[in-house]
Amino acid sequence: MNGLSQRVIVIGAGPVGLCLSLALAQEGVPVTVVEALGEDNFLEQVPRAGTNHPATLEMYDRIGLYQKLEPRGIVAPVFHYWDRAANKLIAAFDHILLKDDTRFPYVLQCERIKIVEEALKLAKGHPGIDLRLSTSFTRFEQNGSGVVAHVVNPAGEAETIAGIYLVSAEGARSIVRKDLDIEFEGFTYSDLTLNIEVAYDFRRHGYAERNYISDPVEWSNLFHWKGPPDRWRIHFPVDPSEDEEAICRQDALQARMQRFLPTGRTFDIVGSNLYIVHQRVAKKFRVGRAILAGDAAHVNSPIGAMGMNSGVHDAFNLADKLVKILRGEHGEEILDRYERQRRHVAIQHTQAQTIRNKRLLAEKDPAVRRKNHDELRRTAEDPKLARAFLLRSSLIESLREAERIP
Ligand SMILES: Cc1cc2nc3c(=O)[nH]c(=O)nc-3n(C[C@H](O)[C@H](O)[C@H](O)COP(=O)(O)OP(=O)(O)OC[C@H]3O[C@@H](n4cnc5c(N)ncnc54)[C@H](O)[C@@H]3O)c2cc1C
Repeated sequence: MNGLSQRVIVIGAGPVGLCLSLALAQEGVPVTVVEALGEDNFLEQVPRAGTNHPATLEMYDRIGLYQKLEPRGIVAPVFHYWDRAANKLIAAFDHILLKDDTRFPYVLQCERIKIVEEALKLAKGHPGIDLRLSTSFTRFEQNGSGVVAHVVNPAGEAETIAGIYLVSAEGARSIVRKDLDIEFEGFTYSDLTLNIEVAYDFRRHGYAERNYISDPVEWSNLFHWKGPPDRWRIHFPVDPSEDEEAICRQDALQARMQRFLPTGRTFDIVGSNLYIVHQRVAKKFRVGRAILAGDAAHVNSPIGAMGMNSGVHDAFNLADKLVKILRGEHGEEILDRYERQRRHVAIQHTQAQTIRNKRLLAEKDPAVRRKNHDELRRTAEDPKLARAFLLRSSLIESLREAERIP
């Protein structure tokens, strides 16, 4: 097989970098993964993504990751839209309607940290993956025949790694994207998102494992994660002019939770953090031998659970193309198709849906709210419309559409 001795350098051992590395290595492509975090702090990352859509589960299954994740997650076929002001369920969508579209007609609620923990174990066990933890990527050079990544190794020394392609799976702050001067087009929401992790079983109030809750004053998302102890993650918008420390004080968190669900009892709050939400897509996903994937290429609001999922979809799309190039089955121009396909998905699906989702949850006009809720209800009640809705929300349609892009 022509060229398979040539190494791909992947920067970042997040979900995207690890999925890409495993998919490449399992096809015989040698990979070096560079990750700034080390054995001592790899599992100390703040809570982030965790809803894994059906198409993503199929991809995890292909690299042997699904079987590791399923026991650590919650199989959740149903998700809800709620009207907080009226304390009413608006609509319930059941992924079982996708039983002829996917082998996994459900989402798996399984947090990013568990995904990278299991994927890292698989990567460590693969002889084709050279894993460089506690190693920071600083810059790179490329020419017609290869790339050279500059890193600082665990001893604090500068080192270079040579390869045939370099993939930036470094996350939103991608050095590669900045060094290539690629514009990160889009906007940043003015409000911050507060994430509260709480050990409390919200199902006793009728909630599903995954809930999107509309409210003209304080919309929220509510998700269930497997323990022990079981935890629920709830997101609220907060005014950026408020004092961040005051927002995250225990009494303030308790008061917010009581406003959301007045139980009269202290909630067992196990964590909280604030984050800024961006909607941005890189103007280019590739310059020569340097390629962007995942958050390095696009970031979006978590309402709809699309960031990590679409990033993992980038990884598999890219892996398939790199393997074909390195086997000599295709020319490098198929990397332009990667950009056409995945940029299209980032703009027309991920961005479009997450922007719409936020607008839907935060809508203030009572007449528009009523109209939106009626439409959601009608969609959920009609199996044909509900299936079409689920194909979009689970990103299956985005993959089908991308396949039709030449
Ligand atoms: C609060 C929150 C909730 C979210 N919820 C969801 C959700 O429910 N569903 C969903 O699909 N998405 C969600 N997302 C988005 C999701 O977390 C990201 O899309 C996903 O983690 C991106 O994966 P990635 O591998 O591209 O980048 P990252 O996960 O950011 O990983 C990048 C890796 O690169 C490493 N790195 C960075 N710079 C360097 C360097 N210079 N040298 C070496 N290593 C480096 C980092 O240490 C890290 O390990 C959420 C995001 C947030 C903030």
